[in-house]
Amino acid sequence: MDRVVVVGGSVAAVNAVDGLRRAGHQGDITLVSAEHLLPYDRPALSKEALREGHPHDSLLIKKPGWYEENAVEVRLGAAAVGLDAAAKTLFLAGGRELSYDGLVVATGCRPRPLGMLDGVPQVHEVRSFGDAQVLHEELRPGRRLVIIGAGFIGLEVAATARKLGLDVSVVEIAPVPLTRVLGAELGHWFQDHHVAQGVDFYCGNGIDRVEVTSGGNRVRLADGTVLTADLIVAGVGVQPECGWLEGSGVEVANGVLCDETLRTTAPDVVAAGDLVRWPNRLFGETMRVEQWLNAVEQGNHAARTLLGENEPYAPVPYFWSDQFDAKIKFVGQVDGRDQVKIVQADDTSLVALFGRGERLRGALCINAPRQLALSKRDILNGVSWAEAASRA
Ligand SMILES: Cc1cc2nc3c(=O)[nH]c(=O)nc-3n(C[C@H](O)[C@H](O)[C@H](O)COP(=O)(O)OP(=O)(O)OC[C@H]3O[C@@H](n4cnc5c(N)ncnc54)[C@H](O)[C@@H]3O)c2cc1C
Repeated sequence: MDRVVVVGGSVAAVNAVDGLRRAGHQGDITLVSAEHLLPYDRPALSKEALREGHPHDSLLIKKPGWYEENAVEVRLGAAAVGLDAAAKTLFLAGGRELSYDGLVVATGCRPRPLGMLDGVPQVHEVRSFGDAQVLHEELRPGRRLVIIGAGFIGLEVAATARKLGLDVSVVEIAPVPLTRVLGAELGHWFQDHHVAQGVDFYCGNGIDRVEVTSGGNRVRLADGTVLTADLIVAGVGVQPECGWLEGSGVEVANGVLCDETLRTTAPDVVAAGDLVRWPNRLFGETMRVEQWLNAVEQGNHAARTLLGENEPYAPVPYFWSDQFDAKIKFVGQVDGRDQVKIVQADDTSLVALFGRGERLRGALCINAPRQLALSKRDILNGVSWAEAASRA
């Protein structure tokens, strides 16, 4: 394999490049990113970088010299707009084409749009460095912020803004935040944690409409409540960035469909990161996860697969979140079908285990780092839920 093209400008793409070189690939590598900035990490964008306005170079995944040292041609501001997998040709905006022997697809996700906010001023989302930079400038004490969506990013922005002295309201369509993932009992824990710091919640409530007035936006909720907002943050989830693959030969269905090794349905095309849907044999199910560590590991794994390895990618997923003084860590993969047991809870920490049938499938550890490692090992070893709960 001579020429490899990596499409995407973030953590999965950079780790694919790194994985290729580490695995001994000596041919050409071109990294193609729609962004105009060198690849940077996103997790801080809703946390400390949003609070303190960190500069772009402090978030870089690799220093500028790294690309040169590794003989990587970097094309920034170069969005892929199409692919002919049979002809092994990638089409870029502006009519340019790139041929390849191997391709890594790592174009991640984009925020899900909320049509009713089109044309409304002072509406923000938090996905890119630019988004966080603009929002940082706007987060001034005393301003009224309405966050639409109580997912992890919405809650992180709520905590960051509250710490900066804004009045923060969170609107969530579900009766309790995070119910779909963690269940109502733990969702209440998150809500209470934020309420204790002065965040207001409007749950079980949709947005009816947003009216633009000279005194700020008026967010009218389905039950008639009206919230006045100097700023609105939309945090209603993301969708895989795979429109450019339409008709390419790479099959897409709410993500890029991959096999266990991260090969796509097209020859010599692998994928990595937030947009990958693949069968994780450890859990016996097909999943797509939007988590930083997964993007790192999949980037590396996809690179090795492209070079001919045939190993299944079967990790225990992991993510973290920081909200006020809570260091939240989660291992495993759960949804509303899993049962939840809180096995430890005091004023500052909490441990909850998740299981389906006999099987331990996840653990939420808040300010409890030791339990995280134990639970990860238990999930890997197929320990039963009952046994794990009895030992916790
Ligand atoms: C604000 C925020 C906070 C987060 N916090 C956490 C956290 O605390 N813990 C955690 O585990 N995870 C967190 N995440 C998730 C984590 O950042 C993502 O899982 C990770 O960024 C996924 O990396 P990726 O490379 O797959 O995709 P992305 O980060 O989405 O990057 C995709 C890249 O591809 C580029 N691109 C898109 N389309 C094209 C195209 N057509 N052509 C060329 N380039 C294209 C994009 O511009 C982008 O550079 C957070 C994410 C955000 C946004």
